[in-house]
Amino acid sequence: MVKHYEQVWGNCLSFIKDNINPQSFKTWFEPIKPIRLQDQSLTIQVPNKFFYEWLEENYVGLLKQSLVNELGKQGRLEYQILVPDHRKLGVKVKNDEALMNASAIKNPFVIPGIKRTKINPQLNADYSFDSFIEGDCNKLARSAGMAIASNPGGTAFNPLVIFGDVGLGKTHLAQAIGNEVLEKFPDKNVLYVSSERFTNQIIESIKNNAVSDFMNFYHMIDVLIVDDIQFLAGRVKTQEIFFNIFNHLHQNKKQVILTSDRPPKDLEDMEDRLISRFKWGLSADLQAPEFETRQAILSFKMEKEGVELPLEVVEFISYNIKNNVRELEGVLISLIAQATLNRRHIDINLAKQVIQNFVKKINREVTVDSIKDLVANHFDVPVEKLQSQTRKRSVVIARQLSMYLAKNLTNKSLKSIGENFGGRDHSTVIYSCKAVRDLMDTDLLFKDTVTELEKKVQLSLNG
Ligand code: ADP
Ligand code: MG
Repeated sequence: MVKHYEQVWGNCLSFIKDNINPQSFKTWFEPIKPIRLQDQSLTIQVPNKFFYEWLEENYVGLLKQSLVNELGKQGRLEYQILVPDHRKLGVKVKNDEALMNASAIKNPFVIPGIKRTKINPQLNADYSFDSFIEGDCNKLARSAGMAIASNPGGTAFNPLVIFGDVGLGKTHLAQAIGNEVLEKFPDKNVLYVSSERFTNQIIESIKNNAVSDFMNFYHMIDVLIVDDIQFLAGRVKTQEIFFNIFNHLHQNKKQVILTSDRPPKDLEDMEDRLISRFKWGLSADLQAPEFETRQAILSFKMEKEGVELPLEVVEFISYNIKNNVRELEGVLISLIAQATLNRRHIDINLAKQVIQNFVKKINREVTVDSIKDLVANHFDVPVEKLQSQTRKRSVVIARQLSMYLAKNLTNKSLKSIGENFGGRDHSTVIYSCKAVRDLMDTDLLFKDTVTELEKKVQLSLNG
């Protein structure tokens, strides 16, 4: 009996599915289309060259096995790479034209009155692919990033959402893509912006009646990187404008790169239409690095700092600092500082000392209660009042400020912060944070108070 190609591929898929994790299956196998079966050779269609290379590099054994199961030892696999459909390109913004108009369009990154034709990408040149050590923890995200850098807007990874816990390299990787694009395509307009800055620019442009200027500026970007999009939570107007910009860029085959501390589906207070757009491309996570990768990262940073450490010290640090690359760097810097200040050799004992301080520091978490205590104490109001319904001005300010600090200095969600303040809901927390920011803008003394309290909260961790 002659087997039909769809049936053969269907059987291959169920074998593959049983042998890899669901996320990889979804990313790498669901997009494949079987095309034909001829002389024991199955042709499958993949979205692009990178995709094909990735399959060959990572799944060739699995593919082969599944094919042998179906077609016997003679079974062969051929790839067909999907040619991009140019008819779907839509309105094309010509680069030169956009640049010529650049001086007419208000660039929120420059002081008004100063003309500039090429947009400053706001990138840190240290964040390159070379300095981003590869490991199993970041393989997918890193490779997808490199594919994008060679062909921004032209891969299936649009948008690319890089997500993962704090200190695992999201900002580094996102900027590495931007830097690499500029290296390869110096004429492209690349722009990196944090969600916070983006939001502030929008607030500013609304105030100045300049929202359309703002959008026109962003429409000119070829590669837009927006960092930490979880901070857009609850910001309705910002999300609306971002939605518009996103659609414009995506339709015009411009690349969008986003980072987030959680997968798109878990973003809170985010419009569904935005979340569904984030899922159009690829969401790739950064995991905590494995022991060997931690060692490799540490060695790389040592070389950069120009120090050599005994192997047992490197191993000791890599073994103990597990969940955060920034901490790994932090330990190295402290170690160098301690050794220099105390004129000591870096040995295992010094490493133990430094790590002990570090681990103590990082394991102690800022709690909402400790913030409430500090603020109540500072404003000299009883801490229970922060939970109460009192509208007394001094209490209201202390309450709002506590919420603001809780939002910024803990990982608690808006919802759980609200619950900590007498069962208020998340919109009250959002409102309070805004009220505090507004007050800081207009009242410099208040701003100093906030800074001082922030420091105190941090210090309370070490005390
Ligand atoms: P995130 O944005 O996820 O909080 P960052 O991108 O700021 O994390 O990374 C924290 C620090 O760790 C940075 O100094 C970055 O250079 C470094 N880092 C993270 N991952 C790697 C890696 N794979 N190789 C080298 N350095 C890394
Ligand atoms: Mg970051």
